[in-house]
Amino acid sequence: MSTPTTHEFQAEVRQVLDIVIHSLYTDREIFIRELVSNAADALEKMRLTQLTEKEVFGAELPLEIRITTDETAGTITIADHGIGMTRAELVENLGTIAHSGSKAFAAALKNAGKTSEASLIGQFGVGFYSAFMVADEVKVYTHSWRNDGEHLVWSSTGAGTYSIDEAPDQARGCRIVIKLKEDAKEFAQAHRVRSILGKYSNFVGFPIQLNGERVNTVEAIWLKSKDEVSEEQYEEFYKFTAHAFDKPGYRLHFQSEVPLAINALLFLPEQNMELYGMGQMEPGVGLYCKKVLIDPHPKKLLPEWLRFVRGVMDSEDLPLNISRESMQDSALVRKLGEVVTKRLLKFLDKEAQDDAAKYREFYSKFSRFLKEGVATDFANREAIAKLLRFESSLTGKGEVIGLADYAGRMKEDQKAIYYQVAPSRSTIESGPYVEAFKAKGYEVLYLYETIDEYVVSSLREFEGKPLQAVNSPDVELGDISSEGEALSEEETGKLCDWLKETLAAGVEEVRAGKRLVSSPALAITPEGEMPPQMRQMMRAMKPDEVEAPKVILEVNPRHEIIKKLAALSASDAGAAKLVGEQVLDNALLSAGLLDDPQRIVARTEKIMARMLGGA
Ligand code: ADP
Ligand code: MG
Repeated sequence: MSTPTTHEFQAEVRQVLDIVIHSLYTDREIFIRELVSNAADALEKMRLTQLTEKEVFGAELPLEIRITTDETAGTITIADHGIGMTRAELVENLGTIAHSGSKAFAAALKNAGKTSEASLIGQFGVGFYSAFMVADEVKVYTHSWRNDGEHLVWSSTGAGTYSIDEAPDQARGCRIVIKLKEDAKEFAQAHRVRSILGKYSNFVGFPIQLNGERVNTVEAIWLKSKDEVSEEQYEEFYKFTAHAFDKPGYRLHFQSEVPLAINALLFLPEQNMELYGMGQMEPGVGLYCKKVLIDPHPKKLLPEWLRFVRGVMDSEDLPLNISRESMQDSALVRKLGEVVTKRLLKFLDKEAQDDAAKYREFYSKFSRFLKEGVATDFANREAIAKLLRFESSLTGKGEVIGLADYAGRMKEDQKAIYYQVAPSRSTIESGPYVEAFKAKGYEVLYLYETIDEYVVSSLREFEGKPLQAVNSPDVELGDISSEGEALSEEETGKLCDWLKETLAAGVEEVRAGKRLVSSPALAITPEGEMPPQMRQMMRAMKPDEVEAPKVILEVNPRHEIIKKLAALSASDAGAAKLVGEQVLDNALLSAGLLDDPQRIVARTEKIMARMLGGA
């Protein structure tokens, strides 16, 4: 007689189980999809194992999934002859979660709102536990493919612990017996289970039998031509392969013969799971060779920034016995990835033009990936950049344009694509930088995210035109004819010298600015210094290591304040100093460079006191 051993679930698993058992009541049927998908995974692994291992336990067993329902006993059983599990694997796979899944899972549930909560389970790699939505008790009978494995049974009611015991005669693979809760007895009815399986069972790469009857014809819809596949089939397939709950946002299904034979069916999800705080997604385009799965999450197939794409790629040019390791550095696989990436980028560009509103919706959730792509995917940089969208000085708030539109409507004498990175439209428009560009009729792109700074600095140019920040020291706009009388060159020079001396700690240079229209002054970060947004990010991370900036201060010799300041500096140096400092701080504020805004308060109080006739 054997004695069972009792184990505690890891804390994360307990949390997941708690959520699953106590707060998920809708879409409970997805537990069948998750367990069938696990069975299919195990069979897939078995198929690969058989290619390399000679000594396999139960080598003669068919690679198939058998489901049985028993209404009298109130059970549903899902069995496979996949790789099975050893004792250690049972503990590892069913007692722990390797990644920090549960926290992210709980957060996602909160954020998901109306979207069906239960379906999130599979996305987080905790699909097995979905069985506890419907189970009073789950038993997993198993024997590993290894000859020295044991015949075992794992069982749990989901309440904190599980036990493992010996279970004579268990064949290779897993047999999962679910004792259904009182309110979940429907899943012991054959017709109910048949209709659930009907939705996706044809996508499973192995035969499925329900109570001894074959329910699926294994078909690879990606090998079919488009007109042979219905919308519903596409959608169900997406949900099945991606463990998804949403509908696919975009779908790209294509076949090609040159340069490689490729059948691809790709989906772009509607929801960005990384926004739910679940961490970096795994690549989600499975690699197949003639319907046989080679790797469900190939790392080197598509560039990393495309990890949000779901679906499958099948190429008969791949050697069937290619291992996951050799796949990683296979030139063929790289080529496959390149072809498909190019195709996908072209597809998106066309979609963006054909239905701009739909694209915006997609872009609002996935722009991060595109931006990451521009910064990291050298080969496709310009094609990805084409997909970016920004507000600009010529769009309304909330409207966007692409770089191609921008380039297409540049003024003839315009040398560069201009942009400003700042937190908001109002920051930019109330600031001193864009006015000169507006006066010239040059469009300025408004970039609101800190990573945009990296995007433009990696992109550098688009369609041969350089990208230039409006607050860059190199901006050369020529003369802007402005109204109004200006200080003479000599007076301006004198004022600049005086300011340079008075503001010594904060400025590297003070000069007359050519690009000012209605603002008194602006600050420019000198060549070689970090751009303001990047600096702010560094400061947030390491406040002590980022010093107060020394800027180039450009003053506007036509502006009333500057003209009066010139006079005041001769008559009342004390008052002039206060005004000069304030001019600098205002410029720093607009530049996003004012680290210590508090000092403005003390100074304006002094200025007010003077105005009111104080000291
Ligand atoms: P995921 O499938 O995303 O890894 P699951 O919670 O669905 O997460 O399953 C956890 C793990 O349990 C699987 O990765 C696998 O190692 C193991 N497992 C589950 N079902 C089976 C099965 N039928 N045969 C073999 N191993 C299984
Ligand atoms: Mg799973």
